[in-house]
Amino acid sequence: ADWAAAVAAVRELPADGRVLLICHVNPDGDALGSMLGFALGLRRLGVRRLQATFPGPPEVPEPLCGLPGLELLVPETEAESEPDLVICFDAASESRLGELAGRLAGKGTALVLDHHASNSGFGDVNLVDPAAAATSVLAEQLLDRLGVPLDAGIAECLYVALSTDTGSFRFDATTPAVHEMAARLLATGIRPGDISRRVFDSRPFGAVRLFGEVLGRARLEPGEAGGRGLVWTYATLDDLARHEQRPYVLEALIDPVRCTAEADVSCVVKQTAPDVWAVSLRSKGATDVSRVAVALGGGGHRLAAGFTGRGTVDEVVEGIRAQLRAGTMESGTDQPG
Ligand code: 5GP
Ligand code: MN
Ligand code: MN
Repeated sequence: ADWAAAVAAVRELPADGRVLLICHVNPDGDALGSMLGFALGLRRLGVRRLQATFPGPPEVPEPLCGLPGLELLVPETEAESEPDLVICFDAASESRLGELAGRLAGKGTALVLDHHASNSGFGDVNLVDPAAAATSVLAEQLLDRLGVPLDAGIAECLYVALSTDTGSFRFDATTPAVHEMAARLLATGIRPGDISRRVFDSRPFGAVRLFGEVLGRARLEPGEAGGRGLVWTYATLDDLARHEQRPYVLEALIDPVRCTAEADVSCVVKQTAPDVWAVSLRSKGATDVSRVAVALGGGGHRLAAGFTGRGTVDEVVEGIRAQLRAGTMESGTDQPG
């Protein structure tokens, strides 16, 4: 990771330089939290021409609507076209940036902060660390190197990012350094109970009923995933419409599904258009689902990955089974993160 170049990219901004912060499509807590936390830090440094955006419809998922710094968000269509500095958060590849990927190729500097092992380093300066639990770990370190003190607003953003990507400090990436960072964030006075209730433990009643229906059709296939079991379910646009729910509510659906003790691999297939499905994959450890996802055109981490599937649900799931049977995804020790 090229910290000196990253610090220089910010310090050497021209007076009144324009900064555009971007993150991946369908932004999660880490994408939005690290981006907005860093944006608030830049504002404290005196950067005035500051915009944050993400590809697609400019709607923030309800659980993230309490994040400080949301006022810095602009719709993709209104984002600066020739920024002096573009900073990209939590995107493993340019394909996760939609039309915004073009901004990285402009005359300004492109700085990439990310923690996906598959990240190719598509910026001019890359802070990419697959050992980092979240992109927000890199954002906090860079703010520190820039001499920006944490305040409650910055800390709340980074805490949301850190707690979402570590599964509320449950995953293996939860190192002593992660808890030390959490301690620094909490020392600003932010309230973890309030934040967690908003981010993790709050959903409309319609979503509770929708989950019931979708979980009721889950399938367990004990013979798959090298005999360690595959569990999967799917949700259609019609399911969302009948329960009057927005697509973001389905992000949390993988959590009850992956609890299945009899399965190493879990999967939720979410319809986004008639023949298009956003697929979430999780592993308990024996399977490297990032390899499954990469083979099917997506990406991610060893234990959490995803891809876009096309065709019918059955065709999408059969594609996953085929990868699992090919057995190329046995989890090795060569791919951290
Ligand atoms: P989720 O299942 O929570 O949407 O995503 C889990 C992980 O898989 C994320 O860290 C994300 O990086 C990766 N991921 C999910 N969907 C895609 C996709 O369509 N393409 C790529 N490259 N990565 C994805
Ligand atoms: Mn993310
Ligand atoms: Mn992340």
